[in-house]
Amino acid sequence: MEATDWKNLPFGYFKTDYNIRCYYRNGKWGELEVSSSEYVSLHMAATCLHYGQEAFEGLKVFRGADGKVRIFRWEENAKRMQNSAYGIMMANVPSELFKEAVFKAVKLNEKYIPPYGEGASLYVRPLLIGSGPQVGVKPASEYMFMVFVGPVGPYFKEGFNPVNIQIVRDYDRAAPLGTGSYKVGGNYAASLRSGERAHDEGFASVLFLDAKEKKYIDEAGPANFFGIKGNTYITPNSHSILPSITNMSLREIAKDLGLTVEQRSIAVDELGSFDEVGACGTAAVISPIKKILDRETCTVYEYCKDGKAGPISTKLYNQLRGIQEGTVEDKFNWNTIIE
Ligand SMILES: *Cc1c(COP(=O)(O)O)cnc(C)c1O
Repeated sequence: MEATDWKNLPFGYFKTDYNIRCYYRNGKWGELEVSSSEYVSLHMAATCLHYGQEAFEGLKVFRGADGKVRIFRWEENAKRMQNSAYGIMMANVPSELFKEAVFKAVKLNEKYIPPYGEGASLYVRPLLIGSGPQVGVKPASEYMFMVFVGPVGPYFKEGFNPVNIQIVRDYDRAAPLGTGSYKVGGNYAASLRSGERAHDEGFASVLFLDAKEKKYIDEAGPANFFGIKGNTYITPNSHSILPSITNMSLREIAKDLGLTVEQRSIAVDELGSFDEVGACGTAAVISPIKKILDRETCTVYEYCKDGKAGPISTKLYNQLRGIQEGTVEDKFNWNTIIE
């Protein structure tokens, strides 16, 4: 491979050498297959193309200061994919199969794991689709599970620098009893138009409110929302948000650092009383937020008055990154070393 400019990697698609595929037919999963093609051949009536039978995952692999390769909480991603599969009636991917495919994809593309200290990592993208044909609205009887990987840089070009986001009231990402808690493509399709408009208007992301009352914070686009008030970490407990593994981890780190953790409804009005707010997810870990504009009411909430991330967000970020990179003790046992 030509020399890669690790420091300036975007968060985007990067071609590597191999990907893994596995097919579910006649009620069972077949053997893992290694492919070097970037393409899949699909039946034109596959349910993923027509009825949205598609779920994905995203997790990261880091090369540590000690040279070891660590994958972060893969069991949680496996469980979540099982939940997504359940939610939209796809074949279940057992954790062992998930692990085998993910680890194999990482090992076969080992040379693409960025070196320590470049702010980059290897992103792993497992994907489950309905591949069997249906024209009537029914779940497929065949499924395809794939895993590809690629080195990525930070999700926001700002890195760990505060971003601006906007509250939207004219779009919802997910209905209260819809698919918001499953990691499925349809939720993303529903968020694209408002997300692009936010970008065009100069914002990094949108902040969705609960679809029913438009009163509570739901999700920060493709990331969970949290706020810090005094010594408390507060994050919404809505049924229509995606249970973020980063958020789950930050809650545990926060407790460990002596903070109180609350998972509860957060009314929009409460935004003015937070000391720090942020969005969290695998891609960025934490994106500190410096300004929230309520697009309709024109109310503005401001944080990070000195232009920098707040002290608690910074501490949480450093702890989590440190655990992932092997410089902070992994006392929760979140990493698995890939040999
Ligand atoms: C994946 C995702 C997140 C973040 O989850 P992590 O497990 O922390 O990466 C948050 N919100 C949505 C809508 C997502 O799809």
